[in-house]
Amino acid sequence: MLPEFRNEPFSQFSHPDVRAQMIAAIEAVKREQDNKYPLYIDGEAIATEKLIESINPSRKEEIVGRVYEGTAEHAQRAIAGAARAFTWWSKKSFAERARYLFKAAAIMRRRKFELSATMVLEAGKTWAEADADTAEAIDFLEFYAREAIRLGEPQPLTRIREEDNELYYIPLGVGAIITPWNFPLAILTGMTTSAIVAGNTVVLKPAMQTPVIAAKFMEVMKEAGVPAGVIQFVPGAGETVGEALVDHPQTRFISFTGSRRIGCRIYERAAKVQPGQIWLKRVIAEMGGKDAIVVDEHADLDDAARQIVASAFHFAGQKCSACSRAILHESIYDEMVERLLAITKDLRVGEADNADSQVGPVIDEGAFQKVMSYIEIGQGEGTLLCGGKPASEHGYFIEPTIFGDVQPTARIAQEEIFGPVLALIKAGSFEEAIDIANGTDYGLTGSVFSRDRDHLEYARVNFQVGNLYFNRKSTGALVGVHPFGGFNMSGTDSKAGGRDYLLQFTQAKAVSERL
Ligand code: NAP
Repeated sequence: MLPEFRNEPFSQFSHPDVRAQMIAAIEAVKREQDNKYPLYIDGEAIATEKLIESINPSRKEEIVGRVYEGTAEHAQRAIAGAARAFTWWSKKSFAERARYLFKAAAIMRRRKFELSATMVLEAGKTWAEADADTAEAIDFLEFYAREAIRLGEPQPLTRIREEDNELYYIPLGVGAIITPWNFPLAILTGMTTSAIVAGNTVVLKPAMQTPVIAAKFMEVMKEAGVPAGVIQFVPGAGETVGEALVDHPQTRFISFTGSRRIGCRIYERAAKVQPGQIWLKRVIAEMGGKDAIVVDEHADLDDAARQIVASAFHFAGQKCSACSRAILHESIYDEMVERLLAITKDLRVGEADNADSQVGPVIDEGAFQKVMSYIEIGQGEGTLLCGGKPASEHGYFIEPTIFGDVQPTARIAQEEIFGPVLALIKAGSFEEAIDIANGTDYGLTGSVFSRDRDHLEYARVNFQVGNLYFNRKSTGALVGVHPFGGFNMSGTDSKAGGRDYLLQFTQAKAVSERL
């Protein structure tokens, strides 16, 4: 009997042995900087003419590794290969396909510190954030493997005497998997393996900023024995490889996580039926957020302040679930400002491989410039209460920044900044606070801090987000515990890590035999 799904425990870095293992892993990954990682098409490792250099955002002079860059032609070859592999992979049972995921989870557990260390160096994740990313990747493997087995079981139908009826789920075809850099192992693993365990074959295009951890995912899948052709690996630019995958007539579905801008572009392009295409492409798109935490006059203010700071500034605010708006009842506004500033000023900003750092860099030059430009916009829209400046010139560090007295309609209260910037907004009543929280195009996560049952129940009905939390931070969703996905411009609400997720990569077939 398969044991019930349990979330992978986080590493206890306060323990000297665990700490020593992580230090050793970071040192070992640093020595891999001359490694070059290939594309995989039909199982063949391919070196191309161009290399993507993966840069450590904590020390921009430092290279983490190099990955060969694919082109639109590689994407097309990969789709053709995936279509061939689909003919036999799709016929295997759910239970057989699930076994590859269990095996991959075991390999990731063995390589846990190395994988986390890679993300510390490549994505600028602090130790705890990188460890949580690896744990989530393992969770996705364990969870989707179990879900696949459940999906393969006979489905209940109403019986009639004169017929034998059956309904079962079959895969869709070739999928394009287009992933972001901010959860470069967890989200990539979840998106890729959910699709293949359901019987599809895929072409995986990781984000340009984090190709090394993606290449290591491929090593894991290879070691787990996933047959050649099932996952085709084509790192490369969104405009070339990404668009070739989206536009291809043999692409049956696109699973995308990333920004609203690119998600909308993919959705639109995928809607066009290409010559020779015999289906409507399915698009699963998980996009940005403008997440709010509401604090009412009855809340535990110390706790609320700690959780807001963690939600806003851990991983430098680069989570789709990060709190970028704190909506505070006017009667506790000043007290909350004091608490938020005290906690924020104590945050240790520093290189992600330093075990003591609590806030690392933003991912790259583009992100750095974008966040700094929003800080400039913020100066005209609110009062700068803390931060606002680059924190070190060696990497892409930005001080945790808080703006007070921001209007709900201000740009820094409406647009996703994706950096360590928090806007404080005053509300005259709880109902007004929820209206402000709902007043953006997004609807991903949100939290309410209150000890008033009526307020919590009001928020339960009226706060329009895919993931609503009470008296806890807005980040840190766990697989199986908090199925994840947002409303409106936050995406298609696919609920990753939930029981409905795999269905999106299947179609149902009903077979009826007259007796
Ligand atoms: P992004 O810029 O939209 O990129 C995401 C992926 O799309 C990358 O692999 C990118 O490739 C690719 N891409 C870019 N242009 C493309 C095109 N024209 N056609 C096809 N693919 C294309 O997003 P990001 O900066 O990596 O990630 C941050 C965003 O993701 C934030 O908005 C965040 O809120 C969102 N996010 C959402 C969730 C969720 O569950 N809702 C989770 C995590 C992140 P390149 O690397 O070449 O640009």
